[in-house]
Order: sequence, then structure tokens, then C-alpha cells
Amino acid sequence: MGKDLVFVGGGHAHLTALVNLKDYTDRGRRVTLISPVDRHYYSGMGPGMLSGMYAPREIRFDLKKLVEDRGAQFMRGKVVRVHPEKRILDLEDGSRVSYDVVSFNTGSYVPLDLVKGSMEHVFPVKPIVNLLKAKRAVVRAIEKGRPELVVLGGGPAGLELTGNIRRLVTDNHGDATITLIAGRRLLPNLAEKARTLALASLKKRNIKVIEGVRADRIEDNTVIFTDGNSISFDLVFPAVGVKSYPIFKDSNLPVAEDGALTVNRHLHSVAYPNIFGGGDCVSLEDKRLDRVGVYAVRQNPILHANLTAALEGGEMKRFTPQETYLLIFNLGDGTGIFVRKSWVWNGTLAFKLKDYIDRKFMKTFQVSGEREDTRDYPDG
Ligand SMILES: Cc1cc2nc3c(=O)[nH]c(=O)nc-3n(C[C@H](O)[C@H](O)[C@H](O)COP(=O)(O)OP(=O)(O)OC[C@H]3O[C@@H](n4cnc5c(N)ncnc54)[C@H](O)[C@@H]3O)c2cc1C
Repeated sequence: MGKDLVFVGGGHAHLTALVNLKDYTDRGRRVTLISPVDRHYYSGMGPGMLSGMYAPREIRFDLKKLVEDRGAQFMRGKVVRVHPEKRILDLEDGSRVSYDVVSFNTGSYVPLDLVKGSMEHVFPVKPIVNLLKAKRAVVRAIEKGRPELVVLGGGPAGLELTGNIRRLVTDNHGDATITLIAGRRLLPNLAEKARTLALASLKKRNIKVIEGVRADRIEDNTVIFTDGNSISFDLVFPAVGVKSYPIFKDSNLPVAEDGALTVNRHLHSVAYPNIFGGGDCVSLEDKRLDRVGVYAVRQNPILHANLTAALEGGEMKRFTPQETYLLIFNLGDGTGIFVRKSWVWNGTLAFKLKDYIDRKFMKTFQVSGEREDTRDYPDG
């Protein structure tokens, strides 16, 4: 195998490999990370950053410094296409990068085809850095009056966003009308008890939840529902589920229904054994996984081991996803909802447990002085 190892995207599944880049460079490999951003923000703590519970420096990884400190190259850019036979990547700016082995961790995005007009008052939940911009916009809006704030999406992200917006408003001594448009119902894919607890918490904090309606489009500060009704807003926060970027489909690589790269248990493409991937941008050929960070995190050591095996030879490891996983929702008031299949409970202990797990994760991978870097990066 040749010399060039390229990482595309510095998401949650690449962190072990990036922290251990010396394992590749010490063996003479040329390593490059291509990323549209210098810093990656951890989604698990994103809503807490929105409310002000966490400072930005507590939840970000300095990707550029991480790789440059380890003798690798950081290239700011966005990969848009792969030429697997030629082993070339096309970037959005027209440049090209060749590879011998490539690994993708490009994540997912919130589709915004709902938005028919200006994006000025629209703050999608991904990339997570948007939540910094959202925070500034909410603070400005409550300084001027009592804004109408609308969150779209009844999944975990919509729930966490709503609760944390309430905290942001309260901590800044403001007032706002906060509405969550939950689609069919709140937390539709989880045990009913999770929904009941979430509804009770939001109601107690004067947040209106509307179930049984779907947004059709967003036009001029109004969300119009599929049934023709509408709600006006000053700021809107879409958290309407995520999609895969079209990179793999556009490259004629085997993909799942949602456009994610189809990989086998070794986490490489079923068609090209030198194209790897992890996190939201891949889909296992034999099992559909939920789009949760838990899997991206668990794929870390497998990806690192298998990239090494692809370059140096040796046996690859298999990724075996866990059947059940733990989710804890940060409701923004110091409490959380703990969900593990039908085992559901809430309270301050649930939030404390989440906070402990999240901080431990950050401590493992914040190895580039992030916590001491108090500078403000307006775009992240
Ligand atoms: C608000 C919120 C809270 C969440 N909380 C939890 C939680 O508590 N627990 C949980 O398990 N899951 C949670 N999730 C789900 C979780 O965020 C995702 O499953 C997780 O982000 C997937 O990680 P990833 O590394 O695949 O993708 P991402 O986190 O999206 O990272 C992808 C990276 O790739 C880069 N990139 C994108 N396109 C390109 C390109 N073309 N070229 C190069 N680089 C590119 C991006 O800049 C980004 O840095 C949450 C999601 C949201 C929105």
C-alpha cells in the first residue's frame, strides 16, 4: 500500500486516529486531514453551550493544531466527490487530493429545503457551531422585547434545544414565547414514559408543545404547516432530522437509501477496501443503525486499527454495534431524562451522569490546549 492516508472530516469517529497520528507518521506515511472547519464541536454538549451551561472552549476540538502537532497536514476544504479508481478526491474549490487510503467522517446535515426565503432568522441545529450564532441571536432578541422562538422537530435534538433556550432566556433576565413543533409526536421512537416526562418538564417551564403537525415550509418569519395552519416567529431553530451529504452517491459508490456510504463490519466500503468511514456518514451493509453519536464514538478504535492494517498489513477488527444504548437528554434546568430502551427516569442525577460522561469524553480528546483557549471564534 502507498504512502498517503487522508482523513475527510474531523468528526467524532476520527478522534482516536487523529490523537494517535504518530502511529502513521512514524511509519513514514503522509497524513492529511481535510476539514471545512478548524474546530469541531461535540454535539452531546451543544445544547448546553447554547444555554450557557458550557463555554465554547469546553466542547470543541482544535483539529488543525491536533494534526499539525503530530506532523500531519491540515487542509481547509470540503470534499465533494471521490474518484475511487484514480484514488483522487475533488474539493469544492476545484482542487484535488490523491490518496492511497482514505477515511470519511463527514457526518450529516439538517436539510433546509423547507426554507423558501432568507436564512437570516433560521438556525439549524447542525453544524453544532450554529448554536453559538443562535445563542447570540436569542440574547439580542430578548434585549429588544419578547420574541417568538420556534423549535422544529420532536426528536431528542429538538427537545434539548427547547429546554436550553428557556434557560438562556431566563438566565439573561428576558422573556420569550417558546414553542416546540413536534411533528407527529414528541420523542416518537422512544418509550412513552420519556415523552410523558419531557412534556411535563416543558409545560412546567411554560414551553408550548404542538404535536400532530408538520412544517411544510418556512416563509417570511412564518412556519406554514402541511394542514395550512401557521405560526409566526422571530427566530426559528430547525432540528428536523438529518441527512447524509451526497458525496458518495455523486461518486457512484454503493450507498444506503439515505445516501450514507455502505460499509462492511471492517468499516470500509463494500466496493473499495481502501475507502473507510465512520459516524453518521456510513451505513452498515447488514444492519441499520440509528444516527447517534454513540456509534461514532465506538467506531473510533476500530477505524484506527483498520486504517493501520490497511496500510501496514495485518488483520482487521470487526465493528459489532451494541444492541441498546444509553441516551440522556439535557433539559437545560439541571435535570435530565435517562433512557435505555424501556428503562426511563429523570432528575438531577440523570443530568449529572450525562455531564460526567460528556466531560470524560472531552478530556480524552482535548489534547491541544483547547480548554485554555478562551478566544472567541465567531464562526466556531
Ligand atoms: C443537538 C444534538 C445533540 C445530540 N446529542 C447526542 C447525544 O447526547 N448522544 C448521542 O449519541 N448522539 C447525539 N446526537 C447525534 C450526534 O450528533 C451524531 O450522531 C454525531 O454528531 C455523529 O458524529 P459524526 O462525527 O459522524 O458527524 P459530525 O458530528 O456531523 O461531524 C462531521 C464532521 O465532518 C466535517 N465535514 C462535513 N462535510 C465535509 C466534507 N465534505 N469534507 C470534509 N469534512 C466535512 C464537518 O465539518 C464535521 O466536523 C446529537 C445531535 C444533535 C444535533
